[in-house]
Amino acid sequence: MDQYTVTVRTSTTYDVVIGAGLLGQAGAYLRSCTAAQRVLLVSDRNVYRRYGAAVTQAMAGFSVSPFVIEPGEGAKSMETLAKLLNAAAGHGLRRQDGIVALGGGVVGDLAGLAAALYMRGIPYVQMPTTLLSAVDASVGGKTAVDLPGGKNLAGAFWQPACVLCDCTALDTLPPGEFANGMAEVIKYGVIRDPEILSAAERGATGLPRLIARCVAIKRDLVEADERDVGVRRLLNFGHTIGHALEKASGYTLGHGAAVAVGMVYATKLAEQTGLCAGMSPRLSRCLEKYGLPVSPAYPWQMLVPLMELDKKNAGSRAVTMVLPLTWGQCQLVAFPPEELLARLTEIDREDKT
Ligand code: ADP
Ligand code: ZN
Repeated sequence: MDQYTVTVRTSTTYDVVIGAGLLGQAGAYLRSCTAAQRVLLVSDRNVYRRYGAAVTQAMAGFSVSPFVIEPGEGAKSMETLAKLLNAAAGHGLRRQDGIVALGGGVVGDLAGLAAALYMRGIPYVQMPTTLLSAVDASVGGKTAVDLPGGKNLAGAFWQPACVLCDCTALDTLPPGEFANGMAEVIKYGVIRDPEILSAAERGATGLPRLIARCVAIKRDLVEADERDVGVRRLLNFGHTIGHALEKASGYTLGHGAAVAVGMVYATKLAEQTGLCAGMSPRLSRCLEKYGLPVSPAYPWQMLVPLMELDKKNAGSRAVTMVLPLTWGQCQLVAFPPEELLARLTEIDREDKT
């Protein structure tokens, strides 16, 4: 399996390394990007059971203490964050020591925020074990926990010291979790690189290369817009409708599944407004290949008001959507909510006839 390195230059510079067997080299990478001696290894029960021992062994020479959380979004809380910070203090972590996040987005977001807060910021190394966190969360420096009032409401921007994406660890992902990640992979294909879409259609072989291309696209967009106010918003393709669907489902629908539906309808909207033509059937086929949904399980009357609440629309009532113009090219378009509702309803009415 090939190995790829994507260098990210934001407020700090770090490498995202993608390849096989990287977890077994965790110690060497940790030594190369931090001066840590003590390490808090954060993981969830599923991931720790499979990979905890190998990573701990690979960090021989470091003083490693595990902090293992329950799998699932529920652990992304202020309560777990407080426990994690206390565990860091209990293990005697100092300013140069490190937090290692071994797991998916939940582990990465939580451990990253703890690293941002502990002693006003210590190094952390991300080892994403889901496809979603590999392509989505390993670049951008967004860390957060959820509050009772909403997802990711308490967070910080904090860049990792390095990111190790061991693709062999993705082999044990449940199929639904793999599909969630593929939705984001396909997103990169539509917004920037049609080659990615073709690779997804061929069945996502050559995963390290595919992940590296996605990470490089996100890197380019984030470097141009670290604080998320401009071109980075293109990464939001499929997410305006997607976030509304996640909320409507009480977060039982997976992020990738929600984004899949969102991408299909953003594309149908672009077709309806004359921005593009004939793109949605190919996109739907590609998503369905991975068992992803392509139509919403909730009515638009319920979803559109939830889109108005999307934090990305701060200050205005208009709903900003990312719409495709052609494969690899998108544009931001703002709709008044009434018009959006009318258009989405019309799309479904036409689809039925
Ligand atoms: P996401 O990256 O989608 O936010 P989560 O952190 O919520 O992912 O993880 C999704 C689920 O997949 C969790 O139950 C987690 O324990 C499990 N998981 C993560 N990585 C792996 C892996 N490599 N093999 C098996 N299960 C995994
Ligand atoms: Zn996403």
